Amino acid sequence: MHHQAVIIGTGPAGLTAAIYLARANLAPLVIDGTQPGGQLTTTTEVENYPGFPQGITGPELMDNMRKQAERFGARIQSGTVTRVDLSKRPFTLYLEGESAITADAVIISTGASAKKIGIPGEAENIGRGVSTCATCDGFFFRNKKIVVIGGGDTAMEEAQFLTRFASDVRIVHRRKELRASQIMQDRARKNDKIDWSLDCTPLEVMSNENGVTGLRVRNNDDGEEEILAADGIFLAIGHQPNTRFLDGQLKTDELGYIEVVPGSSRTSLPGVFACGDVMDPIYRQAITSAGSGCKAALDCESFLLEHP
Ligand code: NAP
Repeated sequence: MHHQAVIIGTGPAGLTAAIYLARANLAPLVIDGTQPGGQLTTTTEVENYPGFPQGITGPELMDNMRKQAERFGARIQSGTVTRVDLSKRPFTLYLEGESAITADAVIISTGASAKKIGIPGEAENIGRGVSTCATCDGFFFRNKKIVVIGGGDTAMEEAQFLTRFASDVRIVHRRKELRASQIMQDRARKNDKIDWSLDCTPLEVMSNENGVTGLRVRNNDDGEEEILAADGIFLAIGHQPNTRFLDGQLKTDELGYIEVVPGSSRTSLPGVFACGDVMDPIYRQAITSAGSGCKAALDCESFLLEHP
């Protein structure tokens, strides 16, 4: 099947691009991916997306965006793009099961996934005290005890941010030396609401019927184990952009994020656009993703006008 425009991914970036392209009468095909609706479907309340003064749940927000895109003629298809051939136009996208579709233009909005450690208790407590986003969930931990896992800039930043809400914040890092930049380390060290458990390996998220109660860790120096009491555990061990299916056909940075021409959504290949977390290691918010999805749709529309 041939399409003028195909959008890969249905987070806020992909669905915003779909709304704009559909309203421009380009009837985009949207492939919904392994996590339809994207990362927001794993959060509960979203309180910082403008337009919802009472807040809205992540799944409901994404469902609304999907319905809005469909209302204007976007077609949303279940499936995952496993590989692509971007060497010539029309581009070819292969779906799981090897069926192929072709497209004059492609928007990539496959997002990023927060890395997980893989310890017992972690997966089942996501949304019950384990979080991967301080900006999203910090507010729910007012006067509570929080553990932040990680030793990079994100961990320093999230720990600092969380001290606005929490009674105390403890950074747990698996080595003695932090990976974070000196300035971020210094800021965190100056904050007396932050405690440190360095050279400590996280072993297990402890929980009861009400949610998370603590983190079991091993002190690497003496091998002793202890349980750090916590109501919330924030994983800040990095994100992984979902770009493996591209197999190096687009320019990415050293972390795998798709490189775009600054200020635009244009990638290293004309006719291929990127938006949302797959090209943004910094802001990673639903609203910034939606904004970049809008840009991608407008860039895609101009491209299709110039290359009928
Ligand atoms: P990162 O720099 O890759 O740091 C990840 C941290 O998590 C490391 O300390 C790592 O430990 C730890 N870690 C990784 N896997 C782990 C595991 N399985 N168990 C326990 N700990 C684990 O990631 P990031 O902090 O998200 O930063 C990503 C990029 O964004 C960086 O380039 C960063 O500079 C940038 N950033 C910048 C800012 C800013 O400037 N404001 C803010 C946020 C992020 P090891 O150190 O032992 O490997």
